[in-house]
Amino acid sequence: MLIVMELNATAKQVRRVQEVVEDMGLQAAPIPGSERTAIGVLGNQGYVDDTAIRNLPGVRECIHVSKPFKLVSRDFHPGSTIVEIGDLRIGEGMAPVVIAGPCSIESIDQMTAAARTVKKAGASMLRGGAFKPRTGPHSFQGLGEKGLKMLRQAGDQVGMPVITEVMRIEQLDAVCRYSDVLQIGARNMQNFDLLKEVGRLDTPVLLKRGMSATVEEFLAAAEYIVAEGNERVVLCERGIRTFERATRNTLDLSVVPLIREMSHLPIIVDPSHATGLRSLVPVMSKAALVAGAHGVMVEVHPDPAKALCDGAQSLDGPAFESLMNELRGLAAYLGHDL
Ligand code: PEP
Ligand code: MN
Repeated sequence: MLIVMELNATAKQVRRVQEVVEDMGLQAAPIPGSERTAIGVLGNQGYVDDTAIRNLPGVRECIHVSKPFKLVSRDFHPGSTIVEIGDLRIGEGMAPVVIAGPCSIESIDQMTAAARTVKKAGASMLRGGAFKPRTGPHSFQGLGEKGLKMLRQAGDQVGMPVITEVMRIEQLDAVCRYSDVLQIGARNMQNFDLLKEVGRLDTPVLLKRGMSATVEEFLAAAEYIVAEGNERVVLCERGIRTFERATRNTLDLSVVPLIREMSHLPIIVDPSHATGLRSLVPVMSKAALVAGAHGVMVEVHPDPAKALCDGAQSLDGPAFESLMNELRGLAAYLGHDL
């Protein structure tokens, strides 16, 4: 970090800043300039919290040189992380993963039908929400633990690992009992207590990008998990909030190659929540793989017209099957066997 002093800062003010920096266990190196003094901060392992410094008398601004994340960055860890879930491997050089299933778990019949359909078409993981973060309290909130059991049962019936969202720390025990992967949804990307808690577990985590999160905030959220010891993190771009209302969100596909440069963690794309429109899901799934995503997560419902949640963006069985055929061709072109 570089601390830039005001033009008229006194030598006493510069000394005070040095003292505060040193009290933080860091070194302060004053750099006198022809107009103003700057103070270089040395010895930090990562981002420096500047709250104790920026309001000191004579300080003009604190310029951060290091990023608020380190453990998830490629500078720190040049090799790509492969996240293993049973026999499944997600990451660089691996066949793209396809996660599919309904937005929410509605019944055992719906879940087993969805599981059979996506398994037959060639998906590698089954999704379904039991705890649903709905915008309004009158919408279907999910079946809770009953739903978790249905998801597990449906996954076991077809031999697929399962993923479901966890919204609160108190739900972690139950979700870990039934699910192979913990999903942290867009609305909880900055639920720092939840991030720390899943960081203390060994269960793989799918971290979705917050709807107004910058890339830096997204990676800093992943850093919370990895900093606690859990390195099994997969990132998921799911569209961001912009002025555009024609699609549910704006799919920011450029973050896929960007994050692959910046971080060693795998990144997948959710074209369902990103677009909100079933007709756009197949083409944006293909675009995601072309952009270098390590997989996609797609909402599939046996009867989208009757879905209790997100029917308009859900594919039915035949549409998913034809998407899988297209993805298989594309994956082969990209050098993978799907
Ligand atoms: C979901 O995947 O079920 C979901 C709620 O997505 P998001 O958190 O991206 O809105
Ligand atoms: Mn949904």
